[in-house]
Amino acid sequence: MSPQWHVTVAVLVGGVIGSFLNVCIHRLPLRESIVRPGSRCPQCKTAIAWYDNIPILSYLWLLGRCRSCRAGIGWRYPLVEALNAAGYGFIAWRFGVTPVGYVYGALFSALIVVSFIDLDHMIVPDRITVPGIVLGLVAGTLLLPRWWDSIGGLVLGGGLLYVMAWISPYLFGKEGMGGGDIKLLAMIGAFLGWQQVLLTVIVGGLLGAVLGVGLIAARVISRSDYIPFGPFLSLGAVVAMLFGPEILGWYGELLVGRG
Ligand SMILES: [Zn+2]
Repeated sequence: MSPQWHVTVAVLVGGVIGSFLNVCIHRLPLRESIVRPGSRCPQCKTAIAWYDNIPILSYLWLLGRCRSCRAGIGWRYPLVEALNAAGYGFIAWRFGVTPVGYVYGALFSALIVVSFIDLDHMIVPDRITVPGIVLGLVAGTLLLPRWWDSIGGLVLGGGLLYVMAWISPYLFGKEGMGGGDIKLLAMIGAFLGWQQVLLTVIVGGLLGAVLGVGLIAARVISRSDYIPFGPFLSLGAVVAMLFGPEILGWYGELLVGRG
């Protein structure tokens, strides 16, 4: 199969899995089954037929409304589907249909679920991060260059946030991070290794700081408001996953160039 065909299939599969991610985002925090019952309208509880459950297209076709009760469907549903479809397409283009491509796809989807649940409920669910740590250790140990990269990433990622969670009440006078964030970064480290997990923290921390300061300056939030850190760690991890080797190589050249 040609690379274009791989990307096309990845986008289609990404959209369908994105539809399932919406179910996870909605039901995991409520401790409901993600398998049964099938998709239902949150308003009128009518089961959604397969032809009304086609990623992105059904939303456009139905003009964002339930077929039975005409209740509005949140724009986040097609957004999650489009994000996952675009992510899978990009991963297939960069890494091909390879073991690395599959593992990155799984991590990408897990990060989408974690981010939206954290935005909604201010929690990072153990039901994603704990199995994710196990899967990340297996995949990372098999795929990363050195056998200890994965366990090193787990310890460094989890340890860094553990220390930050411990000192932030002293530095900032408030709780910064919770146990969920610690497990999230441990999971990212297990998947990507110690170098990429450092990059994740730096990129995620910078994005969080810039947005946080911007929102405080714009008076959207106040200094004492809690900003969920999961989406920023996830964004950092996506940058590290997709562009990490280039960024680390570029930074290395910068250092060598100076020395
Ligand atoms: Zn309805």
